[in-house]
Amino acid sequence: MIRMKGRILAGEISKYEGEEVKLKGWVDSRRDHGGLIFIDVRDRSGLAQVVFNPKKDKKLHEIAEELRPEWVVAIRGEVVKRPKGMENPKILGGEFEVVALKLEVLAQALPVPLDVTGDGADVGEEIRMKYRYLDLRRPRMQKNIRMRDKVIKFFRDYLTARDFVEIETPHLSKSTPEGARDYVVPSRLHAGKFYALPQSPQQYKQLLMVAGFEKYFQIARVFRDEDTRGDRQPEHTQLDIEMSFTSPEEVMSLVEEMVTEMIGVLYSEKRIETPWPRLDYADAMKKYSTDKPDLRKDKNDPNEVAFCWIVDFPQFELDKATKQIQPVHHMFVEPAEGGADLLDSEPLKMTSTQYDWVCNGYELASGSLRITDPTLQMKVFKLLGMSEEKARADFGHLLEAFSFGVPPHGGIAPGIDRLVMILQNEPNIREVIAFPKTGDGRDLMMDSPSEVSKKQLKELHLKIDKKEK
Ligand code: ASP
Repeated sequence: MIRMKGRILAGEISKYEGEEVKLKGWVDSRRDHGGLIFIDVRDRSGLAQVVFNPKKDKKLHEIAEELRPEWVVAIRGEVVKRPKGMENPKILGGEFEVVALKLEVLAQALPVPLDVTGDGADVGEEIRMKYRYLDLRRPRMQKNIRMRDKVIKFFRDYLTARDFVEIETPHLSKSTPEGARDYVVPSRLHAGKFYALPQSPQQYKQLLMVAGFEKYFQIARVFRDEDTRGDRQPEHTQLDIEMSFTSPEEVMSLVEEMVTEMIGVLYSEKRIETPWPRLDYADAMKKYSTDKPDLRKDKNDPNEVAFCWIVDFPQFELDKATKQIQPVHHMFVEPAEGGADLLDSEPLKMTSTQYDWVCNGYELASGSLRITDPTLQMKVFKLLGMSEEKARADFGHLLEAFSFGVPPHGGIAPGIDRLVMILQNEPNIREVIAFPKTGDGRDLMMDSPSEVSKKQLKELHLKIDKKEK
């Protein structure tokens, strides 16, 4: 007697030889061979071959003739071993196939505007972005997005098991001075006022240290209105971390041990050197003329991943264009021991507590200990050209918080997109983000940014001065 199963996945048919099963998924391809129709049914697990034999069931075979790629189907059939020589070693369960007994079309599909079965290298990026929900069907993109999920889950579990608390911080926030332009959001209730989307949760996470959480993390979305490049996007995701009573050593080992373990579990084919080498900023600049050196021995080897730490950064630098003094990382970075003594006389000679995590020529994270002395913090604001009044208006809350018992603290914020991009051997972060934007910041699928109605503008107390042609 054949036992009827509930839905099984394409990738598991080898477990059901001789049984009647139900598959649900998309028609990946159809081939007609010597009177037989073969379709590959695709679902989240992979592909399974289904055969329609006119000698067995003429009517069913006729319905199968209608099938086109990307139609959604439910199929009942019996799992059998494929005839000798017809096995497909490239797919899971490729020694088996399903002989169709019943077919139900759940949804038809128009011819899709891009091939979703290949790796997409031959498809124009505009089309891939416009039809992202189709582009994501290709196995390569499925793999990238699923691996991204696994990496994030690994970090979450790892940190939670070590007493870290995951805390969400607001998106509707106030300008944070991380060096990029803010995305601003007009307030309806407060005419003429704006929120800013956070360039990072930097101030919030420091305030969470004042609040006594001690160990914080967040899979944080951050927004920076920069000119986009291959490895940049208007919004990206950071594994934001902050700890009280910590040291650069502790933050660096946490990241190093967590990432090394993650790679051992999820990417065992990768080769990394441990412990990760550490380089002084000055040495890195002298030897490699960059603070993001690519230390791979063989740059053509997709499995070589060369992590390193860069330490002993200068605290400040001169902006090349404006000649204004600016922080190398951000304005909350604690100077290295003794560094603050140079603040008044030779700030450009100060060394900071900053540490950067670098991989294959990419900066994956920056972090540091933070200033907790309100007087020192005010001095830094002033050095950077802020008046005391402006500093109080923008950062009064932080300075005030530091007067109510602030623990020494520090942290880091690894970029998830870049890390997954490198581990998946992808050339840019758009390949590991489900719905990324184009190089010029557009979402071609949603057609964003877009205009809003006159009514919305009025409610927001806004008038558009100039229309983009
Ligand atoms: N907020 C910083 C950044 O986004 C990271 C940090 O200092 O923890 O780069």
